[in-house]
Amino acid sequence: MSTSKRPVYCVHCNAEIESRYDLVVSQSFLSLYPYHNSCYSEAIKGCQSIVLGDHPVNGTASNWSSGFALLIGIILLFISKDNIGGVAAWVLNVVVLLVPLVRFCSWYMYERYLDK
Ligand SMILES: [Zn+2]
Repeated sequence: MSTSKRPVYCVHCNAEIESRYDLVVSQSFLSLYPYHNSCYSEAIKGCQSIVLGDHPVNGTASNWSSGFALLIGIILLFISKDNIGGVAAWVLNVVVLLVPLVRFCSWYMYERYLDK
């Protein structure tokens, strides 16, 4: 797989983000936005906090919840939906599988272009 370099720019200060450790990816509605660590702190204190997610998509907590959601989602795929609520169970399954999908998108869009 090719992971050629592509610059990632902070949406708060428009400067290039150099390191994966300085990157915070935030989810706002259906979009993912890259921030510097410090810029994310500033943005979440200001009025952008109304639309910004409280939890970074690329944090440790997010990694754990994505792994857990993926596990639950895969288990749900193999359970007969008629036994546990029909259509509602399918909707729950899709929502649960969106969590690791968002985490993957964050990696695919930004993190793979940055060095450690
Ligand atoms: Zn910045």
